[in-house]
Amino acid sequence: MNLRYLTQSLLDFIFPPLCPLCKRLLKEDELMCPSCLAALPRTEQHILRQNRTEEHFVSIKRFKRGGSFLFYRPVRSFSLLSGDRFHDAGRLLRLIKYYNRPDLAAYLAATAAREWEESGFFHDVDLIIPVPLHPHRLRDRGYNQSYYIALGLSQVTGIPVDTTHLVRTANNQHQARMKESEREKNVQGIFHILNPEDLVGRHILLVDDIITTGSTLRACIQPLRRLRTCRFSVFALAATRRS
Ligand SMILES: [Zn+2]
Repeated sequence: MNLRYLTQSLLDFIFPPLCPLCKRLLKEDELMCPSCLAALPRTEQHILRQNRTEEHFVSIKRFKRGGSFLFYRPVRSFSLLSGDRFHDAGRLLRLIKYYNRPDLAAYLAATAAREWEESGFFHDVDLIIPVPLHPHRLRDRGYNQSYYIALGLSQVTGIPVDTTHLVRTANNQHQARMKESEREKNVQGIFHILNPEDLVGRHILLVDDIITTGSTLRACIQPLRRLRTCRFSVFALAATRRS
């Protein structure tokens, strides 16, 4: 028994792992209880062509497919029990982004990959590229949640994650309160491709945590479009629920 295992066992004894939504005690290797995981609102976009996620990318040539795993409604605080499934998904996204739970991002992405794999959604994809954070934001947050989503997908599909080609060269403003046209301007020209020749002919799955207007993912695809034979698909953990 090594020291790390012993420390973790002791911590689990003092602070037993609880489901982040219902606070039920979790079994080993669970990050959520099965009933909360099953109740999260799926979009089923893996089997719906021209779905709401794909709508944001229809103008892009060689765009293959897109989908978001869950619908969510934003929440101000993760601690409020709402009983609303869309708010529950919003609480998880908040934990992932602001409360140091990138493990939940990988867990939900792996769940999505297991549920979607049979539909052929990941068929033919060569590389998974997470939307990069600017190095300053990465330093402040300590992790890139999109990278963990990519890892979760890769763990199930076996498709490699690539973080070396797409880079973010400017730290744009937070977009949450911006209108669509402002979001588009805010991210234009902030992503660049290093060693583009490596990506010629590849089918790239771009990955982000949430999708609102698609402006960030479109800005990522922009520099890749010059590589004439590249194909693109997108995956997001969640999309806003239009009521
Ligand atoms: Zn639960």
